[in-house]
Amino acid sequence: MSERAKCLFQRKKCEFTGDVNHLRKSPVGRNEVNFMLNLLEECKEAGRIGISGHIRPDGDCVGACLGLWQYLKKCLPQTHVRVFLEKPADIFNEIKGFDEIDSEFPEEEPFDVFFVMDCGADRLGEAEKYFKAAVKTINIDHHISNPGCGTICYIKPQVGSSSELVYDLMEEGMMDRDIAMAIYIGIIHDTGVFQYSNTSPATMEKGAKLIRYGFDFPRMIRETFYQKTYLQAQVMGRALMESIRFLDGQCIVSVLDKKAMDFYNVESQDLDGIVNQLRNIKGVECAVFMYQTATLEYRVSLRSGERVNVAAIASFFGGGGHARAAGCTMKGTFHDCINNLSLHIEQELLKS
Ligand code: 5GP
Ligand code: MN
Repeated sequence: MSERAKCLFQRKKCEFTGDVNHLRKSPVGRNEVNFMLNLLEECKEAGRIGISGHIRPDGDCVGACLGLWQYLKKCLPQTHVRVFLEKPADIFNEIKGFDEIDSEFPEEEPFDVFFVMDCGADRLGEAEKYFKAAVKTINIDHHISNPGCGTICYIKPQVGSSSELVYDLMEEGMMDRDIAMAIYIGIIHDTGVFQYSNTSPATMEKGAKLIRYGFDFPRMIRETFYQKTYLQAQVMGRALMESIRFLDGQCIVSVLDKKAMDFYNVESQDLDGIVNQLRNIKGVECAVFMYQTATLEYRVSLRSGERVNVAAIASFFGGGGHARAAGCTMKGTFHDCINNLSLHIEQELLKS
């Protein structure tokens, strides 16, 4: 077993860089971690706790970080708990703690415990400096492509969202309406409102327990997941209209260049949902959505139906994610990027 795989099983220090070879071969089928992380036990001595998640935080990342932040503050009232994230989309502003998120990443004394949520240390962005300086670091994630980082790695690729993982680690008696809402929003975002194959019976059972806390869940689903601004809807319309099918219609790609993004005055957060809409098209096994981030540089989102392992493809290009939803950053012209991707997609299709 590789050092990196071992850290998924063991409570041990593991710092990895580089080697993603085993991910290319077999990113699915990793095993369970064989211990239950005791959040409060790990934090009880800490005077200062920091929490952060990945760059361009999505609903799951925000829900997991703010759910954990609320829980630790409630259970350890003497402890100073901070949360650092790149500014999340305003749709999440009803989650308790949203206004406490620090997006300035100021210099801080080293944290006694620092949580890396929904990613590995390599996707923390500016918050990586807190990870490096912290005394104890705890990585909680569900990405198959994350080799793990820190003193304690708690990575469960078979769980649908990091928010669900955080829920599992909480003492039920300490749950309340605000924590439940944070966790619920995280879960709905990573499961597409309980729609994707990462939704398990247990996920639904947890969803049922969470809505008993009485927050307005239909409005949260509507306003954070489905609702689009007029400009977001227009840009999605344009992306769908200009999409191109390839590999006999089994794949579809659409791209937005910087000029188009400036024209609609949209940023990356406004493009959420486009790739899922492409994947919904009948006959499509794999959807690719790309937007330009710099000259000759694109962010790539990949979604698949049942046959293409997009985590393997994204990992090959230095990104990562899940078997059915993954992403990476690629350099080159749009045509270079899609040519490279299509080779890998075709190989995946031939396997199945
Ligand atoms: P999205 O396409 O929505 O940006 O990302 C889909 C999934 O892949 C998410 O779970 C996201 O965290 C993950 N992902 C996206 N881009 C990257 C990347 O560059 N590196 C890694 N490791 N994961 C990514
Ligand atoms: Mn997630």
